[in-house]
Amino acid sequence: MDHFQYRDGKLHAEGVALDALAQAVGTPFYCYSTATLERHYKVFEEAIAGLNAGICYAIKANSNIAVLATLGRLGAGADVVSGGEMERALAAGIAADKIVFSGVGKTGDELHRALAAGVTHINVESFPELDILSAAAEATGRTANVAIRINPDVDAKTHEKISTGRQEDKFGIDLALARDAYARAAELPGLNVCGVAMHIGSQLTDLTPYREAYSRMAEFVGVLRADGFDITHLDMGGGLGITYGDEVAPTPEAYGTMVAETVGNLGCRLTFEPGRMISGNAGILVTRVIFVKEGLAKRFCIVDGAMNDLIRPTLYSAHHEIVPVSEPENDVELLEMDVVGPICESGDFIAKDRALPPLGSGDLLAVRTAGAYGAVMASTYNTRPLAPEVLVDGEDYAVIRRRFTVQDMLDLETLPPWLDSGTGAR
Ligand SMILES: *Cc1c(COP(=O)(O)O)cnc(C)c1O
Repeated sequence: MDHFQYRDGKLHAEGVALDALAQAVGTPFYCYSTATLERHYKVFEEAIAGLNAGICYAIKANSNIAVLATLGRLGAGADVVSGGEMERALAAGIAADKIVFSGVGKTGDELHRALAAGVTHINVESFPELDILSAAAEATGRTANVAIRINPDVDAKTHEKISTGRQEDKFGIDLALARDAYARAAELPGLNVCGVAMHIGSQLTDLTPYREAYSRMAEFVGVLRADGFDITHLDMGGGLGITYGDEVAPTPEAYGTMVAETVGNLGCRLTFEPGRMISGNAGILVTRVIFVKEGLAKRFCIVDGAMNDLIRPTLYSAHHEIVPVSEPENDVELLEMDVVGPICESGDFIAKDRALPPLGSGDLLAVRTAGAYGAVMASTYNTRPLAPEVLVDGEDYAVIRRRFTVQDMLDLETLPPWLDSGTGAR
């Protein structure tokens, strides 16, 4: 459920009419709903209420500091995968002791800063990282709480590019090697080895791979305990799928029940890292039709939003529902069209062969379920300024990231001395 609904013939974000918002901030823009973010967070929280557990929202899904502060106010911690993300979480007011640091290639500098800031856990993903982390612990005089991310070799049955738990994926330490990794960690100074972590992929629409992976995790905890490790902490990762089109995602309740069945009797504190499930349906991308081009084979609806704004269709062949901001008549005849951006790539599309009401220049469209892996993956390709982000709360809205300007981009670039005549470019 989300709070983007028609009212009086106009699509609204909560109490804010999107046509008026488009007038105020220009297009394209991202719009997020506070009520939807809060609802999703609470639904997940309820689903794990019976477990000894906390939520560290995976901020890479949508890391605007206003979104983080909205969730932080509800008690969320953060799962971060870079030093930059950690700074964001801290800037949004999320306490360091609620931040988990994950990621396959953390640098010594990042680990140093994370320990100095006092993050709660580091999820380690390789043997060399253990050495680097130990050195950072010694240098900062801190003890690092360590969970080792295991790769259970389970196929999450999701899109190739977001599967992370098979042997051929770069993530985690192969289960068969993980016991040695714990032994190695135990020898190193500055490390408190207390947990096991896992994250097998994103947009999972079936609980079976989770059940398989979590069962292997539970079994492995038994092995580690027999080896003398005091395993008190399990990081269950994220990945719960959501509905973009016609997929049926498992309910958070069913997920929570499955977790209880697989690892609930181990006496561990659990951390969950949902990302997409919290922010995906809480955001839309609003874009304006530039014009419609009738080709011999196809009809192209060319809009001012593009793959640089929302790359999911191009990158993952992802489906996003598209609805006109002005509510169409019930009996309107739909036309098939490709909805494409202005970028000079044939891969620049938002939807292909989509049935939509007749559209013309100036019409506004909302691309739904764009709150996760949308704005965070945007680029400035074709010198297109990053789109602004707007957060709505009831009748109120605020621009939470302003639109870049072309000048912002040019200001980052300099001519080397041998090209700079002193009077600008020749
Ligand atoms: C990306 C990621 C998540 C969140 O995945 P979602 O599919 O957005 O829930 C959680 N944990 C880790 C380690 C991740 O890399």
